[in-house]
Amino acid sequence: MAKKRITDLAYFGGMKLFENPLHVGAPNLPDRQRLMQQIDSLLTSRRLTNRGPMVRELEQRIAEFTGVKHCIAMCNGTIALEIAIRALGMQGEVIIPSMTFIATAHALQWQEITPVFADIHPQSATLDARKIERLITPRTTGIIGVHLWGRSSDTHGLQAIADKHGLKLLFDAAHAFGVSHEGKMIGGFGDAEVLSFHATKFFNTFEGGAVLTNNDELAEKIRLMQNFGFSGRDNVIYIGTNGKMSEISAAMGLASLESLPRFVEHNRNNYHTYLDRLQNIQGIDVFEYNEKEKNNYQYIVLKIDESKTVLNRDELADLLSAERILARRYFYPGCHRMEPYRSYFPNAGLLLPETERLLDCVLTLPTGTSVSKAEITTICELLHFIVSNGREIKQKIRAWDYPENFTAVTSGGMLSKGEH
Ligand SMILES: *Cc1c(COP(=O)(O)O)cnc(C)c1O
Repeated sequence: MAKKRITDLAYFGGMKLFENPLHVGAPNLPDRQRLMQQIDSLLTSRRLTNRGPMVRELEQRIAEFTGVKHCIAMCNGTIALEIAIRALGMQGEVIIPSMTFIATAHALQWQEITPVFADIHPQSATLDARKIERLITPRTTGIIGVHLWGRSSDTHGLQAIADKHGLKLLFDAAHAFGVSHEGKMIGGFGDAEVLSFHATKFFNTFEGGAVLTNNDELAEKIRLMQNFGFSGRDNVIYIGTNGKMSEISAAMGLASLESLPRFVEHNRNNYHTYLDRLQNIQGIDVFEYNEKEKNNYQYIVLKIDESKTVLNRDELADLLSAERILARRYFYPGCHRMEPYRSYFPNAGLLLPETERLLDCVLTLPTGTSVSKAEITTICELLHFIVSNGREIKQKIRAWDYPENFTAVTSGGMLSKGEH
């Protein structure tokens, strides 16, 4: 139902725009019958895990799809990161962006390697290669670039620095499955790349992940580490852990791979609807995909210019949330402002001006195969309505949130604040 007056906004007690919540990262589901067939077949075979036929097939398909020599499927992206970091021999300090999901930092700190946060380029939101060298110390052993929101890092710039200083280069490609960079699929850059197949990602295996690499020796080491260091029956030659993907996860992966073109097409259409419908809103910019490349269109990220929208990012998020549009502030507040890093490096923000600026103005909107074009049109109409009444809404929010300062406004018997 379209909003005509600002009191129609759910934030102020009006009807909620959506009956069911719209999420960022609702799972994309494969063809149900294909999945059931795969599950049936694995139950019949009684091969449930330990690199059974489904995991092997999934690894092979992903290696072919990305054009990378080795794919090692894992139980999740975080363990995949931890194992790749360890297999690469990273220690001491490793340079990463703070603008990422906390797992990038935790995968290092978990093994007592210090993450050193470097600033990003404001346009790409990925590591700014020009700001890395000043952070290199004698303890630095590597760089982890993050292909944030499905946009490639500056692979050449980072590789040049890694080569010059003898550092390992790993990419957290959790957002970049199915994405290309300069015509080459993500997966083959740096020493290795790590994928996540978590349920919220564009392609999922319930939980899962993978390490991709063209390095034979590294691949062998990662395989050993992933399976307790077993090299053949009863023979352990290395310290290892359990990072194996289960067969049922691989079954989900195989079925989802078949549906991948449909996921991309749906996301691409959603992205274009957003782009089209939001282009005339002053102060709202959509982070655009480079359509010369392959994209998964997984994240619809807005940049809010508060000087034009009047309402700030958090106010917009609250107004949307009241309508059951659950926009997210990825990755607010930023790794360096969360524990334990906040305590370890209380001044890290001084070196991260672009990161801090961006963290305070980005907003990610719902998309994926569970979100329809009609729903997106409704979301965009709402945003139009909100921004064109920005000043008035801002005033009313103030009156609503701090009624003691606005007794004249609240005496009209409005709904209590707790009801939105
Ligand atoms: C999701 C994600 C991870 C972690 O992957 P899991 O499979 O959830 O363990 C790591 N890095 C980034 C950037 C992510 O978005």
